[in-house]
Amino acid sequence: MTTTVSLREKYEAVIGIECHVELKTTSKMFCGCPNEFGGAPNTKVCPVCLALPGALPVPNAKAIELMIAAGLAFDAEIPAFSKFDRKNYFYPDMPKDYQISQFDMPITQGGVVNYWLADGEKKSCRLTRIHLEEDTGKSTHAGSGDGRIAGSTYSLVDFNRAGVPLMECVGEPDIRSADEAVGYLEALKRTFVELGVSDVKMEEGSLRCDANVSVRLRGAPEYGTKAEIKNMNSFRSVHDAIESEIDRQIAVIEGGGRVVQETRGWDEAAGVTHSMRSKEQAHDYRYFPEPDLVPLELDRAVIERIRATMPPVPFERFERYTETFGISVKQTTQLVDNPPLAGYFDRVVAIAGSPSVALNFVLGDLSRLANESGTPVAGGKVTPEALAELIALVDAKTINSKIAKDVIARLWANGGSAMAIVEAEGLSQVSDPGAIAQFVDDVLAANAEGVTQFKAGKENVLKFLVGQVMKTSRGKANPELVEALLREKIAAS
Ligand SMILES: [Zn+2]
Repeated sequence: MTTTVSLREKYEAVIGIECHVELKTTSKMFCGCPNEFGGAPNTKVCPVCLALPGALPVPNAKAIELMIAAGLAFDAEIPAFSKFDRKNYFYPDMPKDYQISQFDMPITQGGVVNYWLADGEKKSCRLTRIHLEEDTGKSTHAGSGDGRIAGSTYSLVDFNRAGVPLMECVGEPDIRSADEAVGYLEALKRTFVELGVSDVKMEEGSLRCDANVSVRLRGAPEYGTKAEIKNMNSFRSVHDAIESEIDRQIAVIEGGGRVVQETRGWDEAAGVTHSMRSKEQAHDYRYFPEPDLVPLELDRAVIERIRATMPPVPFERFERYTETFGISVKQTTQLVDNPPLAGYFDRVVAIAGSPSVALNFVLGDLSRLANESGTPVAGGKVTPEALAELIALVDAKTINSKIAKDVIARLWANGGSAMAIVEAEGLSQVSDPGAIAQFVDDVLAANAEGVTQFKAGKENVLKFLVGQVMKTSRGKANPELVEALLREKIAAS
C-alpha cells in the first residue's frame, strides 16, 4: 500500500466530465410526443420522431428556456445567436440516422460550476459549453435462442426516448480527484433539481456521465493521454471507476507502457475498467447545419425574464449558510439537498432572523414530526410565519424551549398561530421572582437531603432541583431565574 500512496503523490490525475441530462419538459424536443420515462416500447412516437418522410421538427420553447436557466446558473454566456446541426452516425438507435445537436454555436458557452467537498472545501470547474440536442432511442442487445430470430444475435430498438430534449454539459479538465468529480456532479444535480431543469435520476437515465481521465507526473505542463470511461450508473461508481482508472494508468506508465486513447467501460462487479473501442474523433460525425430548423435568435428580454425568476443556486446557499450563518457543512448540505426545506428555512430566517434557532427547529422538531407523519415540513401546517412567531416568543423569553417544543407539536397537528396557543393555554413563562420564589421554597422544603449534598460539593444535584421546580411550575418557570434563585436561597440557608 505504501507504494500506491507514493505513486499517487508522484502522479496527478486530470479529469474532465461530460454529462447528458434529460430536460424536464412535457413533450419531446421537436414533436408533441410525451417526454415520459418507460412505457411499452415504441408507443410514444410520431412521424417526426420516427423520421417518416416529409415530417419536420419544431423546437420546444420550454426546453430552450430550461437551457438558458442552466447556463445562467453557472454564469455561462448566452450568445444572441445559436443554431442546430446534424450529427451523422451509423447506428440504429436514431430512425433518422442522425441526431439533431449543436456543433459550433451552442446555446451556452463557458461558465463555471462552483461546488464543495465533504469537508467544506470550495472548488470550481470551468464549463466548456452546455448544448442542446435530442436523446437517441434505446437499443437492447439480445443473444440467440429465444425463438424470435433463430440462432442469431439481434438488437431490439425502442424509440420512446428518441427525441427527448437532452443537454450535454461539457466540463473543462479542471478536476483532480474522484472526490472532486463527485462534488462536481452533486453540484450539477442539485442545481438542475433546484431550477426544475431535470429530475436528474441516474437510475432512469435522465443523468448519464462519462469521465475523461488521464494522469501526468505532478507538475508536468502537458496532459497525459486520456481514456474515456463509460457505463457508470451512480455517483459511487463514478468515484470508484475514476480511482481504478487512475491506478491502472499509473501502473501502465510505471511498467514502461503507454496509455492509449480509447473508450473504456466500467465493470461494477469486477471493480475495473475494460477497453471498449478506440475513440472516434469528433469529425467522424460529419456535422453540418440542420436545414430543417432556423437558427435561434434569443431575445435579451427573455433571458432577463428567466434570470429574474430563478431561485438561488445551491452554491449561493452553501456560502450564505456556512459563512454568514455559521452552519456546519453537514447541516448545510442536508438543507441544500432538500430545496423545499431550504426555501422554508430561508423564509423563516427572513422574518425572524436567528438562523441558528431556526435551524434547530427546522432540522430538529419539525424534521422529526415530518418523518413521523410522512408530510414534508414545507407542506405541513406550521407556516414559516408561525415558526417565526414561535422563535420570537423564545427570543423574548415569553416561553422557554421546553414549552416551545409543546407548541410546535400543537402547531404541527392543528396549524394556527404560536402566540394564540401560548395565550389560550396560559403557557407564558413565569419570570416573576415572587412566583418563582414560592416554587423554589416548596422544592427546597421537600428536598432537604439534596440541599445537604449540594452544599457538600455535589454540583449536579442543582440540575435535579431545577428540574423539580420546573415540574412544580408545569414547565413555565424561567429556568435561568430558577437556577439563580436556588443558588441564592441555598447559600443563605
Ligand atoms: Zn414524436
